[in-house]
Amino acid sequence: MSVLRFNALQEVLNRKPVVIEEKNRRSELFGKNVFNEVAMRQHMTKEAYRSVMNAIEFGTKIDRKIADQIAVSMKEWALSRGATHYTHWFQPLTGATAEKHDAFFETNEDVGAIEHFDGGQLAQQEPDASSFPNGGLRNTFEARGYTAWDPTSPAFLYGTTLCIPTVFVAYTGEALDNKTPLLRALQAVDHAATAVCKFFDKNVAKVNATLGWEQEYFLIDTALAAARPDLMMTGRTMLGHSPAKGQQLDDHYFGSIPTRVMSFMRDLEKECMLLGIPVKTRHNEVAPNQFELAPIFEEANLAVDHNSLLMDVMEKVSQRHQFKVLFHEKPFEGINGSGKHNNWSLSTNTGVNLLSPGKTPMKNLQFLTFFVNTIKAVHDYEELIRASIASASNDHRLGANEAPPAIISVFIGSQLSQVLDELENVTKGKLSPQEKTDLKLNIIGKIPEILLDNTDRNRTSPFAFTGNKFELRAVGSSANCAGPMTILNTIIAKQLADFKNEVDALIETKSLKKDEAIFNILREYIKASKKIRFEGDGYGASWEKEAKKRGLSNNKKTPEALKAKISNKAISLFEEMSVMNKIEVEARHEIELEEYSKRIQIESRVLGDVARNHVIPTAIQYQNTLIENVRGLKEIFGTDFEKYAKEQVDLIQRISQHIAEINSKIEEMTEERKKANKLKGQKNADAYCNKVMPFFEEIRYHADKLELLVDDNLWPLTKYRELLFTR
Ligand code: ADP
Ligand code: MG
Repeated sequence: MSVLRFNALQEVLNRKPVVIEEKNRRSELFGKNVFNEVAMRQHMTKEAYRSVMNAIEFGTKIDRKIADQIAVSMKEWALSRGATHYTHWFQPLTGATAEKHDAFFETNEDVGAIEHFDGGQLAQQEPDASSFPNGGLRNTFEARGYTAWDPTSPAFLYGTTLCIPTVFVAYTGEALDNKTPLLRALQAVDHAATAVCKFFDKNVAKVNATLGWEQEYFLIDTALAAARPDLMMTGRTMLGHSPAKGQQLDDHYFGSIPTRVMSFMRDLEKECMLLGIPVKTRHNEVAPNQFELAPIFEEANLAVDHNSLLMDVMEKVSQRHQFKVLFHEKPFEGINGSGKHNNWSLSTNTGVNLLSPGKTPMKNLQFLTFFVNTIKAVHDYEELIRASIASASNDHRLGANEAPPAIISVFIGSQLSQVLDELENVTKGKLSPQEKTDLKLNIIGKIPEILLDNTDRNRTSPFAFTGNKFELRAVGSSANCAGPMTILNTIIAKQLADFKNEVDALIETKSLKKDEAIFNILREYIKASKKIRFEGDGYGASWEKEAKKRGLSNNKKTPEALKAKISNKAISLFEEMSVMNKIEVEARHEIELEEYSKRIQIESRVLGDVARNHVIPTAIQYQNTLIENVRGLKEIFGTDFEKYAKEQVDLIQRISQHIAEINSKIEEMTEERKKANKLKGQKNADAYCNKVMPFFEEIRYHADKLELLVDDNLWPLTKYRELLFTR
């Protein structure tokens, strides 16, 4: 085995960066493989084009005849670019993307063979999807699933396949995917936010949620990764001693990008341009071999699709460069993990970012309204937000020393904290003209238009206001953004709907003026949501204590955290906002629990295998060399040998002890796994979390000790220093 490791190292040292040619400007490439507005206008009749645009803007249905026209133009566009197949591209509950390709090619009695694609095929497909996770949905209803075109996310050409973004639903209507609830949540937030906007501007007809994600990842050479079964099977290293040099020197962060990595990035960016993913920034991250990529923000549904597509493209492109891309949240112990910050805001069809302060007091009141409502929503549903980012892999990252804790809090900065503190003192009921003037001139009038003060940023907050948007930083790097985005937009929708009702009620019953009513409600919200606001160090141990005192949740592990998704409070929220019904909610919960258990089960098996079949035999091999050596010394020195063999004998003993510990811990772990496997659902996940997983640390401890004791020449697994510093 160690041969594999050394061959891999040799291979890596001989690698050359792939040459990337760029003949076109990026702007010329952008969207070239997307059936976007420009392409639609070129290839479609006015009528068909209008019909798609109406569907996008107002959700109107597309008539079957028109759908046929659209399909024909889409097909012609795709064929002219070399397409041979089409697929309904969807996001089943595995979190990844799925596709089943059908050829355009058909045989035809009259002309032999043709390329065919009609409105029916565009609109709907029935993948044989019985092996996608459905949380009992399909069993309950014996329902078959079908995919249906989502015109709000444009079709694109990937390789020689026309990909049509779709939702995936059961014939009984239940959502079987991640996109359907997201679309419903986005519709809910649109309705609620548009209604609130009308307090300030009657012309607002639609509000879009916007999302700008920042994707962190590691790149590891494929040869080095191949000598790590744990990395290949679980996406993370389950053992490995920390290197002498890690990230202490901070010399990787924002440093110059290694050449092979730069080739990968340029290759990737070119693909992204063609696919219309507006990637904008790239840089080294804190950990060695860790990088980040971020696009210009987009409408949330499109941004979610683009992130899913990006992850897929990254895997493909990385192969050309002999890299394995790691999306795992914590691939290396003691080294920073990877997240996917979700920058979120709301934006009107009139071009206003609702979380951006404005020039006038009225604009600022609108800003404050959305700002305070967001804080209130996060306050009311903090546990649900925590649940929305829960996964086995993200558990390793949250609360580690470089990522937000499992406690959700909101950071807003000192300027806005002061504004909210002052608004808390607004008079109850009617306001005097003096107070109104004062509010307008001195309090909200003083909010500067641009709040992007970099000195006032708190990198440790899981939900931070960053001047013109909120940034949800707790999302894991491997997550599908649809999960957290569905929940965030749903709670905001609910909050804004409540706000509208409360303001209307004050105007009617207490005959308050509109802005008086708004100030009155905001005051109460600010008071009620105070405990979610935290400006201090979110990574510190004292925050955990403080948060507990405040009554904030701190669900460190996924099986515990997920419970918030099926609480009565959550179910009525989803039902009231028409995002999911109880059955859909429970099905998802079941799937997530199962996924959790399976992941820990796989990790446990892999760890057992690697420790037993790689680590122990290597240790024994080295131990035998030592024994040989001691024997030799005895031959030469006779009874005097002990003087010379002391170290060796000591090593022999220590190796034996570690081997014994590893063996017994694996035995115990296997027993716990057997017990866990007899349990179902929550109990199964709890057992994996609390009974099986604790052995990981213990086994690792002894395996890592052996790594330090055993001759480097024999060690079969690529070491941390090699994984992290060879490129
Ligand atoms: P950083 O947070 O690293 O300082 P920026 O503030 O420039 O960087 O933005 C980070 C991300 O936030 C980018 O992906 C950007 O597209 C996104 N972003 C900026 N404005 C908005 C917005 N209004 N809505 C959603 N995302 C946004
Ligand atoms: Mg950021």
